[in-house]
Amino acid sequence: MILCCGLACRRTSLWCYRLLSTYVTKTRYLFELKEDDDACKKAQQTGAFYLFHNLAPLLQTSEHGYLVPRVSLLELERLLAKFGQVVQRIEDSVLIGCSEQHEAWFALDLGLNSSSSTHASLPKSEVETALKGSFTELRKAVFQLNSVDSSLLFTAQALLRWHDGHQFCSRSGQPTKKNTAGSKRVCPFNNIIYYPQMAPVVITLVSDGPRCLLARSSSFPKGMYTALAGFCDIGESVEEAVRREVAEEVGLELDRLQYSASQHWPFPSSSLMIACHATVKPGQTEIQVNFGELEAAAWFSHDQVARALRKDTYIQQQNEPFPFSVPPKLTIAHQLIKEWVEQQTCSSLPD
Ligand SMILES: [Zn+2]
Repeated sequence: MILCCGLACRRTSLWCYRLLSTYVTKTRYLFELKEDDDACKKAQQTGAFYLFHNLAPLLQTSEHGYLVPRVSLLELERLLAKFGQVVQRIEDSVLIGCSEQHEAWFALDLGLNSSSSTHASLPKSEVETALKGSFTELRKAVFQLNSVDSSLLFTAQALLRWHDGHQFCSRSGQPTKKNTAGSKRVCPFNNIIYYPQMAPVVITLVSDGPRCLLARSSSFPKGMYTALAGFCDIGESVEEAVRREVAEEVGLELDRLQYSASQHWPFPSSSLMIACHATVKPGQTEIQVNFGELEAAAWFSHDQVARALRKDTYIQQQNEPFPFSVPPKLTIAHQLIKEWVEQQTCSSLPD
């Protein structure tokens, strides 16, 4: 990374731009597109579009799993014309990122009926045939996508869903208008600005030293256990939310807690998953399960959890053996559990 020298910068901003790292120039370019509608419209001319239908992304199948096709503005205009739609529909697209060469990426949903516009839903199967792909539920496809594609589609789906649900001002009831990038909506009546939001969720792997606590709810696949999770209440810090959730769900009081990482999760609507490791207070080992929240919770040894990660052990559930598993690799819960196993033995596990 090349750092920029402050003095020279003030003279020639263009020269300065060349000295900034690729990451910084890309970030500033995206910032410009979010702030400047004309610049964003210009970026659409050379940009690429990810297509959705009722929040399901267009995917193609290959022998290596799913491919995520993109179309150019020209291809998109041709497609809309073919189905008798006006190009103004492109105004509904949202900016979701850009390449290092500043090719802007947008997402557009062809299936949602925007209540503040006259754009009708395009026929799903006919569009699929025209584009040689299929609109696939993101939840079903997510574990077969690479991390770059999944992250981009997560952002796209979350942003499209947010716009779909914020068509009207909650104060005046008037239709709100999105900016070109889709980074905000404004009520023309009272100028209230609405920004896309995520709900913070804490996810905590509780340990008593040699064991960790995993829990399950009845909606999980049989045999799957994970770390404790819950939404932050309004006014709470992350630390307070972690301590409250653990007390609520398993009746334990925490001693130390340590932040690990975070992840955006789009299902069922946008959450910011904030992952922490925590240890219980000395002597606090008796779990009191809150059955209103959980089906079961228990302490597991390092060996048991390491085997669950490798999927080579079983667990008894309702007197029947099921493969003991933890959430899939892409999830932050998996990372948290893997981290704990690695910490126990001071060694790294393969990805
Ligand atoms: Zn309003």
